[in-house]
Amino acid sequence: MFVITQSCCSDAACVSVCPVNCIHPTPEERGFGSSDILHIDPEACIDCGACADACPVDAIYPADRLGARDQVFIEINADYYKNNADVKSGWGPVSYPEIPKLPAGLRVALVGTGPSGGYALRTLLDRTEAHVTVLDKLPTPGGLVRAGVAPDHPGTKGVLRGFDLLYRDPRVTMLTNVTVGKDISPDELADHFDAVFYAVGASESRRLGIPGEDLPGSTSATELVAWYNAVPGAEQGPPIRRGSDDDPATGRAVVVGTGNVALDVARILVSPPELLATTDIADRALDILREQNVHEVVLLGRRGPEDAAYTAAEYRALSEIPGVDVVVHSGGDVPDLTGPADPSRRRIVFLFHTTPESIVGDERVESVNLRSGEHRHSVATDLVVRSIGYRSTPIEGLAFDDKRGIFPNVDGRMTDVSGDVIPGVYVLGWAKRGPSGGIGANKMCAQATVEDFIADAASGALRRTTRNPGEFQALIRRRVRRVIGYRGMRAIDRSERRRGAEQGRPRVKFTQVADMVGAAGWRKR
Ligand code: NAP
Repeated sequence: MFVITQSCCSDAACVSVCPVNCIHPTPEERGFGSSDILHIDPEACIDCGACADACPVDAIYPADRLGARDQVFIEINADYYKNNADVKSGWGPVSYPEIPKLPAGLRVALVGTGPSGGYALRTLLDRTEAHVTVLDKLPTPGGLVRAGVAPDHPGTKGVLRGFDLLYRDPRVTMLTNVTVGKDISPDELADHFDAVFYAVGASESRRLGIPGEDLPGSTSATELVAWYNAVPGAEQGPPIRRGSDDDPATGRAVVVGTGNVALDVARILVSPPELLATTDIADRALDILREQNVHEVVLLGRRGPEDAAYTAAEYRALSEIPGVDVVVHSGGDVPDLTGPADPSRRRIVFLFHTTPESIVGDERVESVNLRSGEHRHSVATDLVVRSIGYRSTPIEGLAFDDKRGIFPNVDGRMTDVSGDVIPGVYVLGWAKRGPSGGIGANKMCAQATVEDFIADAASGALRRTTRNPGEFQALIRRRVRRVIGYRGMRAIDRSERRRGAEQGRPRVKFTQVADMVGAAGWRKR
């Protein structure tokens, strides 16, 4: 019997290869997209292992090969079938979507190489004969899988192996280190291709809108995560206060929000540095985390634990961090957190029913004023991280819904400032629907938008380009001095892995675009 464990990304790659349909919920069933993980029916599993081979994130194991930490998932998988008695394993009649006849020679640009870009590319290659030019602003692909997934979740990053196979397809041209909106405009892309897909994710943070939010020592999860994940441009990192004999640091960080990103941040801040040192965390972050010794992270939930945004598997994993206690204040009671945190303990403290009213300090963050129910109180802290959701970054030349932080669209068909659909321009993933759902949620979202494109292409709704492919390549090479292609991307990857192997780590990431470009084979001037 096989079992699905915590790192499940719910992209349902396992569902489609299971010969006995014993993995649920399937994309067609209730709960898909909101379910924490998918589950294998222990009564129906025939032990073939096809699911484990197909899993992009190494989340599936035989029950008798699970480590002590993952034993609990045997029960979690089985319980799903006890609690959902109507779910039946075994196949009913299968109907495959029909592929309509499409015009020959379609040429598509796909902007972004994160999960929604990867899943869109797979669907485009599977369902059409289009040639696809893939663009990304960084030389390295992966979007938030590389820049967002926590360094101590290496299995989740395995999803990129599957996308890499697609980049080698003869119908795909990779052009990275190219920024749409700066190096090339959306109008130019629309002019050179029959269709353009924007899978640009959400890489900015929402704001709290409270006094003190811009004090040094107050930052966003986006910035903090980019810093520890070695994203170029995020060199600075948060100014975690060192303290002095006269003015000791509190050793405490306050994180606003209780989503999975807040949990990632809390885990990275309190995890023993020697454990983090075996991951691909940026050295710049590891050095500071070692030195600063944050030993308490207080997470603020504005509602109760029953409404917390984290998933159960991620919450459970907090109690497995060696030497870290998890303390929950759920009833609006107010613990005394005015002084420094107890240095003999590392802990994660949840304060539910609590919102920050202001961030206070003379030259930098010193404390946060909170309201817990009727009580007003203050927490001394060196660092405040708002982890209250992401927003997309606007692109010059495209309409933007500033309120929702997404690109305006009708089911993935992008609209202009007047709200009219722009023929042949599509948006996918978090940039389309907002920052919700894990990696796998983007698969169905991308597939749905590609199906709309197929319908538009079949019905003649696209404006066909009159340009030839060479013109676009020439334009890009005129605009961007160092365009990286597939070989360059692979060279960067090999180089990072080699650096990692020297230290017993999966990889040591480059933190500067110039170094990536150098590793890709461009000589420095
Ligand atoms: P999220 O799940 O939407 O959580 C946002 C949190 O911010 C919620 O606790 C929310 O509280 C709170 N919040 C929002 N506005 C607030 C305000 N003004 N004041 C105080 N609190 C506020 O977002 P996320 O953590 O950024 O995650 C984004 C998506 O990525 C999620 O679907 C998540 O599951 C996924 N993800 C998954 C993993 C994983 O599987 N390991 C890791 C990272 C991210 P309310 O609930 O009260 O609104």
